[in-house]
Amino acid sequence: MMNMKQVPLLINGEFCQSQSTNKLDVVDPATQEVLAQVPYATDQEMQVAISSAKEAFESWKETPVSERARLMMRFGMLLKAHQDEIAQIICQELGKTMEDAKGDVWRGIEVVEHAANIPSMLMGETVENVARKIDTYSYTQPLGVCAGITPFNFPAMIPLWMFPMAIACGNTFVLKPSEQDPMTVMRIAELFLEAGAPKGVLQIVHGGKDQVDTILDHPEIKAISFVGSVPVGQYIYRRGTENLKRVQAFAGAKNHMVVMPDANKQQVINNLVGASVGAAGQRCMAISVAVFVGESKDWIPEVGEALSKVSPGVWQDEKSAYGPQVSAQAKERILSLIEKGKQEGASCLLDGSEFTHPDYPQGNWVGPTMFADVTPKMHIYQEEIFGPVLLAMHVESLEDALEIVNNNPYGNGTSIFTSSGAAARKYQHEVEVGQVGINIPIPVPLPFFSFTGWKGSFYGDQHAYGKQAVRFYTETKTITARWFEDDIAHGPNMSIHLK
Ligand code: NAD
Repeated sequence: MMNMKQVPLLINGEFCQSQSTNKLDVVDPATQEVLAQVPYATDQEMQVAISSAKEAFESWKETPVSERARLMMRFGMLLKAHQDEIAQIICQELGKTMEDAKGDVWRGIEVVEHAANIPSMLMGETVENVARKIDTYSYTQPLGVCAGITPFNFPAMIPLWMFPMAIACGNTFVLKPSEQDPMTVMRIAELFLEAGAPKGVLQIVHGGKDQVDTILDHPEIKAISFVGSVPVGQYIYRRGTENLKRVQAFAGAKNHMVVMPDANKQQVINNLVGASVGAAGQRCMAISVAVFVGESKDWIPEVGEALSKVSPGVWQDEKSAYGPQVSAQAKERILSLIEKGKQEGASCLLDGSEFTHPDYPQGNWVGPTMFADVTPKMHIYQEEIFGPVLLAMHVESLEDALEIVNNNPYGNGTSIFTSSGAAARKYQHEVEVGQVGINIPIPVPLPFFSFTGWKGSFYGDQHAYGKQAVRFYTETKTITARWFEDDIAHGPNMSIHLK
């Protein structure tokens, strides 16, 4: 292990090796080859990262907004130029197919493009003559040091949801990426420095719970963005807000697709296949439950048949539909849930638990799996599986389908497939889920909207991806000024107040 690559930290503008002896292997999930080791940053390294982010804030907040915007423009161009290279790192450490990995990078680039429009998003409001010769106007100002804690499944897109918007607003940022695939964001960070990011504006630390706890408790951290599982999201929201910080936590999901009998059958089948097992089911917006209404239940066997033709494989093979699960533990967890589904009486139409790839027998493979006759009381329905497993349910009416979806504790995404405008309108209006697709299986909004999970899929007040990020990452300052004739004569320099 002498020459094993170590994933560096990014502290105060330098990529540096951690002094920690506590390390984790970063593994190719198709071969188990160890690609690198990631350190759990020491407490001292955490403190230095946070204090140098604080130091960098003092000058970064004074940097003209147009300069901050131009940094994002240059960063976006560099990301585009290196898109394939970044995607390849994702393929290596996470096992995604090249197409999925490119999508991961591209969705992140879109946020950077959005961040390049920061000046108009930061504009305040003005009302003249709120009283005689008194005007009120507001500014948005950055908060200070903000932090992000990200999951394994979108190692480019989710860090890019966070730090570009926070930094464009004038904050500095401490990022703790997933310890399972930390290499992708390190390449992204190199490009951020190459784009001209000043020293200390972005810090990257690695680790797990201890490092996250330091972030949650540190008085200099003003706002925390988290994306990951429900138990961790709840913990981070509770502990962060207990420390009186702003926290937004995007959490797990169980997304339903409602299939009406008037939908286009072939579209339903094609979309269900991609949305349920695509990306190995490791997407927070994956469709994991299909609710067939009325006669559409007759299509269930054909969905199973279509799924049986999907074969996972390695990213180097263009024919691979999806890759392995991120880790051996993730695979074991999915297999135990498949087993549980069989025990609790769901009909297993397709069982991928025995799947193995002939050329990569060490891979964390799970083949496409489908259960029918699933009921809301079943464990496989209640728990997020986060693997290539589709559950099918059958109900008699759209009202019944709505009842199932609305009783589910999660509310990240959902979709309805129908040719009826009335059914689509009723569903979009009554469903208690934050992101709704009509004849679209995975309705992820672009960053000029917000990513709007509801209920158990989100803890916080503002969905600070995209549009609302400015509200999350800034404070509003409202000024009410009385103008004397003399001030007005001095014009905008107002030297009178600086004497
Ligand atoms: P995870 O919750 O295990 O880890 C997320 C982050 O939290 C990682 O950086 C990890 O190091 C850290 N962490 C883990 N345990 C911790 C603990 N006990 N205390 C403090 N920090 C801890 O999630 P994951 O497995 O990496 O990602 C998959 C999950 O993320 C799924 O549940 C998925 O639905 C969810 N997700 C949600 C969204 C969304 O927008 N709602 C998007 C992507 C993924």
